[in-house]
Amino acid sequence: MISETKENSSILLIYTGGTIGMKNDPATGVLVPFDFNDIYDEFPYLRKLGVDIEVITFSPIDSSNVTPSLWATLAEIIKEKYDAFDGFVILHGTDTMSYTSSALSFMLGNLSKPVIFTGSQIPIGIMRTDGRENLITAIEIASAKDGNGNPMIAEVALYFQNRLLRANRTSKYSAEELDAFRSENYPALAEVGVNIWYNKPYLNVPCGGELQIYPRLEPDIMVVKIFPGMTENLLRSMLSIEPVRGIVLETFGSGNAPTFDWFTRAVAETVKRGVPVVNVTQCHNGSVSMELYETGIKLQQAGVISGKDMTTEAAVAKMMHLLANVSDPEHRDRLMGTSIRGEMSM
Ligand code: ASP
Repeated sequence: MISETKENSSILLIYTGGTIGMKNDPATGVLVPFDFNDIYDEFPYLRKLGVDIEVITFSPIDSSNVTPSLWATLAEIIKEKYDAFDGFVILHGTDTMSYTSSALSFMLGNLSKPVIFTGSQIPIGIMRTDGRENLITAIEIASAKDGNGNPMIAEVALYFQNRLLRANRTSKYSAEELDAFRSENYPALAEVGVNIWYNKPYLNVPCGGELQIYPRLEPDIMVVKIFPGMTENLLRSMLSIEPVRGIVLETFGSGNAPTFDWFTRAVAETVKRGVPVVNVTQCHNGSVSMELYETGIKLQQAGVISGKDMTTEAAVAKMMHLLANVSDPEHRDRLMGTSIRGEMSM
């Protein structure tokens, strides 16, 4: 489906840092921060979109330094400015963009407006930049409306190199290619060519109600990636490190792990101590199905929750979100294994 009525839309552009925000200083030739407040001077054709853009600039950081407190700040700004804008575009470093955007998808409940993340692999001030197209199209998508005047996108999404993806389905896939992000287990929300084609059946349908934000997150969680040869001592120390409150276990294939007794026992004891363990696969594509092999069944019996086809990034963000916001362990674990923001297939 193709959109568009975007006249008189207003967009809040939030710049957090990353490669997209750099340009060459004409005097010295070195990379210096780009001032997004001058966005219309740098990109005069943005005026043609007929969109009012207001800019908030954070003190720019490399996204490797991002923390849950920045995620909470973003959620709070969106809450505060929600009624004043039609959509939000967040410029972010690519390295952890999938983590931040996944986190925001859980922190914003009842979202009915677009929150579009983008960035670039080449600084915006470099001639061959991918940032210019990413920025302009992200703004265009954030301001796009359907025939009834409703936003085309009502969820947290990530725009990069001609594709709009559901944010909590993405991973950064390439450190080199301009086409840096993939959503292996969910189709693109929109494909951009001469026109922007929205993949209507796969878009979130807002359920109504007021925007809710959940700024609290529990950061004391750990990702444990298993590998052949992992020793009992090492596994036990990782699972019992204080103050770990939740574990994302990255397993082989369709959710398989060694069937050695010590392995299953160590995991079962962790779950019994009240530390939830969610199983995600190390494969980029496909799903955890613990019932397929004995190696998965043992984990299931140990009380491990299936993360189905969730990315590690989404599992990390969801674990932090649920631990901080759901006090009943049974309810929390049920939500962990169920789609709450379209982050996993049914
Ligand atoms: N290191 C940068 C960052 O993530 C890379 C980028 O923006 O592409 O902040």
